Amino acid sequence: MGEFDLIARHFTRPAPPGSAVVLGVGDDGALLQPTQGHQLAISTDMLVEGRHFFAGADPEALGHKALAVNLSDLAAMGARPLGFTLALALPAADDAWLAAFARGLFALADTHACPLVGGDTTRGPLNLCITVFGEVRPGRALRRDAARAGDDLWISGRTGEARLALALRRGEAWARGEPADIADVVDRMDRPTPRLALGQALAALDGAHAALDVSDGLLGDLGHILKASGVGAEVGVDALPVAPALQNLALEHRLDCLLAGGDDYELLFTADPAARDAVLAAGRTTDVAVTRIGRIAAAPGLRLLDARGHRIEAPRRGFDHFAD
Ligand code: ADP
Ligand code: MG
Repeated sequence: MGEFDLIARHFTRPAPPGSAVVLGVGDDGALLQPTQGHQLAISTDMLVEGRHFFAGADPEALGHKALAVNLSDLAAMGARPLGFTLALALPAADDAWLAAFARGLFALADTHACPLVGGDTTRGPLNLCITVFGEVRPGRALRRDAARAGDDLWISGRTGEARLALALRRGEAWARGEPADIADVVDRMDRPTPRLALGQALAALDGAHAALDVSDGLLGDLGHILKASGVGAEVGVDALPVAPALQNLALEHRLDCLLAGGDDYELLFTADPAARDAVLAAGRTTDVAVTRIGRIAAAPGLRLLDARGHRIEAPRRGFDHFAD
């Protein structure tokens, strides 16, 4: 199978009617027509074999995850997806692998009406790079630099399950759990859910300010908001939602999963306390749990508090590809 057969067979589909796609796969470039007066939101994320996933990983799950992590970035901007491109380096043109990868990819793309509009395909060590294009009303994007002192700090869903799944897969001694819980946490690692509807609902609220998607651990990623916004924060450790699978871990490991796990793809966001009911309503209408876990403070720095308001020490910081 040559490059063009491969693209035609696995990655060429008609643009869905009513989408922003004027011209999709097959020409020198794609043409997208955003809604009049909207801004483009653009994000790129790359998944490298041996770095972001294990050699031999299930191709269908990889197709899902490669797009999911990109859509999660659009969600964190409060943007609506318009389409995406896919740059693929493949060690071989393996038809069964490509079919399964495309199945996982397009299932998620269809769920969010986000068509594939182009890309590039080459031979090389397995590497999946997606760029997503979305749109947002001017002034409505949820930026990292928009947190204000006095804001509530919120998290969608719950953190830490993907970290536990990774530890189970690596056979780390501290990681254990019931089989049903393990299936759940593995799913959380392999098939993350981008919180697109919630992100867009928050962007429509006057009181929602800053947001990001937690990919490298809650504390490390919160640090990005604090730095960009020039503020500090207090996080109530006992307010963090805890998945059943994490409940029986030793405290040290539970905190490490919750606060520094990574691969969570939940939205961490700040909002005016006057918008509390509206934030809860946004969670309800988009079917995502939202939990208030702290507040933004004018004083710089990140303070962890227990249920009685006493300071506690943070576990290690978030994941950094160049730090280890
Ligand atoms: P060019 O020579 O302009 O780089 P290519 O031969 O790489 O074009 O690609 C031909 C067409 O196929 C282009 O429209 C490109 O966007 C599309 N394409 C290539 N690889 C992929 C892919 N993995 N997924 C989707 N579209 C792809
Ligand atoms: Mg090309």
